[in-house]
Amino acid sequence: MGKRDRHGPRPAYVTLRDLPGTRLMFWVVGECPYCAGRHLHPAGNLRTADPGERLGEQTAPCDPTRTYELQLPPRPKKKPGKQARRKERREGRMLELDWDDE
Ligand SMILES: [Zn+2]
Repeated sequence: MGKRDRHGPRPAYVTLRDLPGTRLMFWVVGECPYCAGRHLHPAGNLRTADPGERLGEQTAPCDPTRTYELQLPPRPKKKPGKQARRKERREGRMLELDWDDE
């Protein structure tokens, strides 16, 4: 805190994935703001970790002198009706697990 880089960390949008057959979760940066590549950040154990704690500023694996800010991608807010909402929940369950980002 307090140290301010002139460039500042760039936002990097992530999705949460779990490794099949394990309880490990990863934040996946789909497109790195620096190298446009994909990076993985361990988010901990499915049972014990709060993956949200791993969001925020992280060192970019492709350039250790720079950081980026892991963020959940902004969602289009369309005021879904009850049906749509339920459907969304179902589809989102794989990714969102049981933590609440509200
Ligand atoms: Zn990169």
